[in-house]
Amino acid sequence: MKNYNQPLSGNDMPRFGGIASMFRLPVQQDAAGLDVALVGVPLDIGTSNRTGSRYGPREIRSESVLVRPYGMATRAAPFDSFQVADTGDVALNAYSLEKSIPLIEQHFDNLLATGAKTIAMGGDHTIALPILRAQHKVHGKMALVHVDAHADTNDSMFGESITHGTIFRRAIEEELVDPRHMFQIGLRATGYSAGDFDWARERGVRVVPAEECWYQSLAPLMTEVREVIGPDMPVYLSFDIDGLDPSVAPGTGTPEPGGLVTSQGLEIIRGMYGMNLIGCDLVEVSPSYDSSGNTALLAANLIFEMLCSLPGCLRR
Ligand code: MN
Ligand code: MN
Repeated sequence: MKNYNQPLSGNDMPRFGGIASMFRLPVQQDAAGLDVALVGVPLDIGTSNRTGSRYGPREIRSESVLVRPYGMATRAAPFDSFQVADTGDVALNAYSLEKSIPLIEQHFDNLLATGAKTIAMGGDHTIALPILRAQHKVHGKMALVHVDAHADTNDSMFGESITHGTIFRRAIEEELVDPRHMFQIGLRATGYSAGDFDWARERGVRVVPAEECWYQSLAPLMTEVREVIGPDMPVYLSFDIDGLDPSVAPGTGTPEPGGLVTSQGLEIIRGMYGMNLIGCDLVEVSPSYDSSGNTALLAANLIFEMLCSLPGCLRR
């Protein structure tokens, strides 16, 4: 039986504050009655290079009108499986990163208190830290799959301890995530020192540089991920769109050459089906650097795949 959240067909698109809702879903202010809350976090003041990811959520929503309700390869039927709604954006302090971090955490505390899972649309990668803090209160120490061109494990940037390039060092230090059940996939390009990726490696993180992914399916890697983390441990997926190559995802603030292709991105997300996936984010879409809209459209499709990989998503 189809639930009331079935996306509408054609151009019969509900409007939300003048823009499309994610996947044309119903909108509501909180997560009451939901299995999955989609939520925008339009923060970009943690960005070190090009700004603009504050426009990510609205553009991903806009391009999501092309995403249809069933996964053809997986036969996944997320909208037959879950009550899902677009719960709008977190109200941030656009003048203060320091004040925005607890606002995000409190917002996710409220969403998670209803028992809903969250899929967050960034926004820059800084948002993952307050989200993980909120998730940790519910689930304890989590496994983490992190897709990115960058390790985001700097100790500080410009003297700041919380930025989009430091969050996973903080998450490990605060014991929100277990580095021995953590994968970083797609890391590459240039760093501040040759040993930038080693801090995580020394703590047991499995670092999978982009070069290890070139020219091949990531299905074997995902078998390794499922074996190491197992079916029961709570696992969070944090997907930085710049993990993919700028040729397929140019709309981002810190693009790096030699990245993953879209099929590999799909393999990573689909490879998490069967795990205890407790939440996801898709970050760093910065639409103004891609006038085609394709980066945001790709992001919408990746978010659809995240829904399809949540535990309990039916296959038809
Ligand atoms: Mn990142
Ligand atoms: Mn990145």
